[in-house]
Amino acid sequence: MVIDRRVLREEVSRKIEDNRDDLVRITQELVRIPSVNPPGDYEFMAQKMVEFYKAEGLEPIVACAPEEEVKELGLTYPRPNVIARLEGKQHTPVFCLDAHMDVVSVGDESMWKYPPFGGEIHDGKIYGRGAEDTKCHLAAQLIVLRAIKEAGIELKGDLILTSTVDDEIGQWPGMGYLIEKGFQEHGFNKPDYHIAGEPTGLETVGCLARGRLWYEIIFKGISAHGGNPKEGVNAIEKAISLANAVLSYEIKTDPLMGSDTINIGILHGGDAINVVPGRCKITFDIRPATKKEVVKQFMDETFNRLKDKDPDFKIESIRLLNDRQTGGIGPDHEFVKTVQKVVEEMTGKKVTPSGNMVGYSSLGNAYWTSINGIAGLMYGGGDFIRAHSVDEFITVDELVETAKVFAGLVVELCG
Ligand SMILES: [Zn+2]
Repeated sequence: MVIDRRVLREEVSRKIEDNRDDLVRITQELVRIPSVNPPGDYEFMAQKMVEFYKAEGLEPIVACAPEEEVKELGLTYPRPNVIARLEGKQHTPVFCLDAHMDVVSVGDESMWKYPPFGGEIHDGKIYGRGAEDTKCHLAAQLIVLRAIKEAGIELKGDLILTSTVDDEIGQWPGMGYLIEKGFQEHGFNKPDYHIAGEPTGLETVGCLARGRLWYEIIFKGISAHGGNPKEGVNAIEKAISLANAVLSYEIKTDPLMGSDTINIGILHGGDAINVVPGRCKITFDIRPATKKEVVKQFMDETFNRLKDKDPDFKIESIRLLNDRQTGGIGPDHEFVKTVQKVVEEMTGKKVTPSGNMVGYSSLGNAYWTSINGIAGLMYGGGDFIRAHSVDEFITVDELVETAKVFAGLVVELCG
């Protein structure tokens, strides 16, 4: 069986090589469609993916999270995900190869050497916003599928291909919606395995990530003349006392995820130099390497302690703008081992499990699957350092190797 799979992997790799030009062309075409988020311009991207899936003989479905729930998040509607499936004989296991359609903005276009939506090739590199994050992975999906068909491989498990929305803003209407209800509502089984195609250099696989707690606190003070501050309550001072208390949090460290981090992103209050500020806003971006409940409890205790100590410590509002659990399937999961084995056999590369991808600890869309009990990993080709940067690119060789590895994983899991 093992030998059979190796033979199949070689066969499918050859077919990918045969389709090299198309793989490059499709990546270029996708880069040429701006799908910047925010706001999330998906119309033409989703149409294109529908067209591409159809061209490979699939029957894609467009799946949008419900309008009401999308609007509650302050987002425009519709936000179309595209799903397609190659059915296996036994329909199990279900493997989902996924990549997001949105890209971040290009920033100052004059800084770019090549046009950000040009998809130009220079020295074997495809340039443009989204070239490696992550339109190359959308293109790879299509060629993987084609190579499997051309190699005459009949899958046992189902292969689901998804082009999803809103990864770049970390919002729910993409894989969050699909995994919670979208797949089922549209007649697809939930995946057993999921790869969020992202540029991790093929040598690192994201299997854990710190959580994310974004607090916004508004303090209410009392305005007064700056020459007589005792008459007022200085809201900025209250915010500073909270900041000091929060920064005293005892930082914990996880071997893979690194340490908890705390960032004060906004401290905003006051109108004039000679007026006691009556209002102040402060925000904390806390990324816990332990369960988020530990931090939430610390925050609640801190608010209560300061309130008890100081009758003027008055909070107008507390909002939790992001509330992500710490987690992931971890480095010992069999799916991680499978990726390591297949990739090493195919490329000689040793894959290292990571919980701190590029230092800021992200699982991409694998966050949504792994918190829902599915084996989700963030993995793909291209160097993460180039993502979101000026003159983003993927090399043609990286692109081809990524498609081969993905095809190898499909054969391993569904073959
Ligand atoms: Zn990405």
